[in-house]
Amino acid sequence: MTPDPHAQIRQEVRKLCLEFPGAYWRALDRENAYPAEFVKTLGDHGWLAALIPEEYGGSGLPLSAAAAILEEVQRAGCNGGACHAQIYMMGTLLRHGSEAQKSKYLPQIASGALRMQAFGVTEPTSGTDTTALKTTARREGEHYIVNGQKIWTSRAEHSDLMLLLARTTPREQVAKRTDGLSVFLVDMREVKGNGLTIRPIRTMMNHATTEVFFEEMRIPASTLVGEEGRGFRYILSGMNAERILIAAECIGDAKWFTEKSTAYANERVVFGRPIGQNQGIQFPIAKAYARMRAAELMVYHAAALYEAGQDCGAEANMAKMLAAEASWEAAEACVQTHGGFGFAEEYDVERKFRETRLYQVAPISTNLILSHLAEHVLGMPRSY
Ligand SMILES: Cc1cc2nc3c(=O)[nH]c(=O)nc-3n(C[C@H](O)[C@H](O)[C@H](O)COP(=O)(O)OP(=O)(O)OC[C@H]3O[C@@H](n4cnc5c(N)ncnc54)[C@H](O)[C@@H]3O)c2cc1C
Repeated sequence: MTPDPHAQIRQEVRKLCLEFPGAYWRALDRENAYPAEFVKTLGDHGWLAALIPEEYGGSGLPLSAAAAILEEVQRAGCNGGACHAQIYMMGTLLRHGSEAQKSKYLPQIASGALRMQAFGVTEPTSGTDTTALKTTARREGEHYIVNGQKIWTSRAEHSDLMLLLARTTPREQVAKRTDGLSVFLVDMREVKGNGLTIRPIRTMMNHATTEVFFEEMRIPASTLVGEEGRGFRYILSGMNAERILIAAECIGDAKWFTEKSTAYANERVVFGRPIGQNQGIQFPIAKAYARMRAAELMVYHAAALYEAGQDCGAEANMAKMLAAEASWEAAEACVQTHGGFGFAEEYDVERKFRETRLYQVAPISTNLILSHLAEHVLGMPRSY
């Protein structure tokens, strides 16, 4: 077996995560509070700047290294969902931003002075049909005026910057529905309470997600990223990295569940023998493990294609789908193995169970991945 090129990174992240044990996460979960200390610690150690090139103050690591970081965070029982966007969202800025934007923002994002955690794409009425979004940005001199609403804008209350997708040309006036959308890098500190309102949404897990309202929100024209009207392509170009990193998180979750399951199966004695001696207990854990290993290979494969600059759309989507399913299967086996204790807060199983369920829905749901594969890989008709 080839040695893991990121073994050192894994070891360091694992060590850091030990400072944030289950009790830390349980307390936050109860209060629905943001893990500010955890996020700060990861940032201070440079892990959130993994993908920012060295010339902009980051560590210029490859995607597989960022995947290793997030996998270890999840494997340690922590929740990378609180800050994973800080790692990958800057990709849109890096690839499509002007030199002025990059040199203004990237070093501050890298140092943690600026938090870039909020991604405003999803809207309540359009859902997955992104190009049907209704938020508009109209140009007025040296400004854009934004009106509309986003939903599920995670971490908006804990972010300085928001990457916002809005329509700049009405859908009826563009040749393709993917045209006429633009991306803006909004400094939320300047518009909060002045055109921008953020309302938290309580969810089944602690995720700091919100709905965001724009009412005549005035932002400088210099916040436009790249060319007006090409924003949908810019957002799409960042999605492969996002999918691969979320898939790596799911692999970390699956490993956490499986380690918990095997430890408990070995130690819990019922009817005078460890429950792990029963095939009814062993097999679901072993099966989930096999599924996780297969998904893990797809994550590595997708990351390798990405790093080689090759098209990895199908592989990134498959990695995300398979890994999310594998983590859910491992979670299900873990609850079952723990019996009643699977429901007790102090075991952390129920918390992680709630947390890992998300990844079959967000950032893209399984059905949409299957339709992508059916249409773009297998050549079947578009189903929607
Ligand atoms: C906790 C959380 C955090 C999130 N964070 C963010 C964020 O930070 N930024 C952001 O922009 N968004 C975020 N999202 C939104 C997330 O990306 C969407 O919820 C997800 O893409 C699904 O969209 P939807 O909820 O609008 O579902 P809908 O589009 O309404 O779909 C509902 C169901 O129908 C299925 N469906 C829809 N159309 C089809 C079809 N043609 N064929 C088959 N099935 C179909 C979907 O797969 C889904 O299962 C978050 C969501 C959650 C729950």
